[in-house]
Amino acid sequence: MSEPAKRVIIHHTAIRSSDTAQDCITQVGRIQKMHMEDRHFDDIGYNFLVGQNGIMYEGRGWGVMGAHSKGHNEDSVGIAFMGNFNNDIPTSEALSAVRRLLRHGISQGYLCSNYAIFGHRDLASTECPGNKLYPEIQCLRSDRD
Ligand SMILES: [Zn+2]
Repeated sequence: MSEPAKRVIIHHTAIRSSDTAQDCITQVGRIQKMHMEDRHFDDIGYNFLVGQNGIMYEGRGWGVMGAHSKGHNEDSVGIAFMGNFNNDIPTSEALSAVRRLLRHGISQGYLCSNYAIFGHRDLASTECPGNKLYPEIQCLRSDRD
């Protein structure tokens, strides 16, 4: 990406939540394999993934276009919460980690300070990022303001 991202798009992985670091690493590997082998992406689709333990995993990272929201990847960063948040409740650790990541992205020039933040369902016909995570996006939005 030649310019800082203007949008942040929140996803969930829609698989069971990861509690341990090892479990998270295994799941990130599985998702990467699925995206590359089944969907023929160049790499894992998300820019970042976060576990319920608050550990952040780098997917494509900053400054690289992801493959997470068809038609919306050019100017956005895709962050996936690991778990199925139709049932799970996002932990404060995971939410704090995302807040820190976003602040870091702004400070490093990868993310516009007036970025817009969405849930995947705002942009496509999907349940993603789940009913329990979706309301938290409003809190992340008000942090930025
Ligand atoms: Zn999604």
